Amino acid sequence: MRLKLFFIHLTSKKIVIMEEKKIEISYQVLKIEELSKIDAHLMNVVNETTVKAYAPYSNFKVGAAVMFIDGCNVRGSNQENAAYPSGMCAERVALFAARTLFPDYPISTLGVIAKKDGNVQSSISLCGACRQVLLETEQRQQQDIRVILFGRYEAIIFSSAKDLLPFSFGEENLLK
Ligand SMILES: [Zn+2]
Repeated sequence: MRLKLFFIHLTSKKIVIMEEKKIEISYQVLKIEELSKIDAHLMNVVNETTVKAYAPYSNFKVGAAVMFIDGCNVRGSNQENAAYPSGMCAERVALFAARTLFPDYPISTLGVIAKKDGNVQSSISLCGACRQVLLETEQRQQQDIRVILFGRYEAIIFSSAKDLLPFSFGEENLLK
């Protein structure tokens, strides 16, 4: 008896129905002249703080300030270094200083501005690392932090750090 072997290759197609999810973020855009008095004050503060930046490599001077509920603030500016990763963004300088000086005092707002050749630039956003630090600061204090990205003519306002960083690092932050 002769045995015949047949090899049959089967390819199966699986149809996977994936649930599509969307993440919504919200922000406001205001003209500078439409800012509230307290936000306009914060803009002046961060504008002044750019003078403290040490940015000989990028010539991009960033000022940041965190404001507490009572209107007091802690400021930061970008500090560059010839060994590039050794520098620090203005936002994290301000956030770390604020948490060091006033660890139990909730931050209400973070304002940021950037200047090049002495001129205020269009609104700039925080880098990923600063967003991560900001979000964790917000989670630690269990109170939303407003973020204002001041530009020359307009300001972009986020009501929470969450809007700047969906799907942040950290297992517990997924799918929230
Ligand atoms: Zn940064």
